[in-house]
Amino acid sequence: MSQSDCLFCRIVAGEIPSEKVYEDDLVTAFKDINPAAPVHVLVVPKKHITSLAHVEEEDRALLGHVVLTLSRIAASQGLDGRGYRLVVNTGDEGGQTVGHIHFHLLGGRRMGWPPG
Ligand code: 5GP
Ligand code: ZN
Repeated sequence: MSQSDCLFCRIVAGEIPSEKVYEDDLVTAFKDINPAAPVHVLVVPKKHITSLAHVEEEDRALLGHVVLTLSRIAASQGLDGRGYRLVVNTGDEGGQTVGHIHFHLLGGRRMGWPPG
């Protein structure tokens, strides 16, 4: 399930240090190393899934948990009254650079639209 050559599997396992803001048995959330906003947290399922294009029916409950957890983390980061943005870059044209599904939680400034 976990892949030794996957950056985010290694962060989940604690083999690479990160600034964790939340963890439970299914997900880990940590600060992005190169933040694009005052709050920039990456929420990743502990299970290695390559991208949103690779999710399967068996991941339904896990992904529901991820989204609920994102909402709670946003509140814990002080964003619920202000607003925030979730981003899931997927695949090459989607701008995905790490091949382990991750949800960007961005906030603390006004977001522009459309994204670049
Ligand atoms: P993607 O471009 O795949 O959607 O997002 C990958 C994100 O991972 C980028 O925002 C990048 O800054 C972040 N990132 C890459 N390597 C590391 C790392 O070693 N630690 C942390 N905390 N974030 C990383
Ligand atoms: Zn992985």
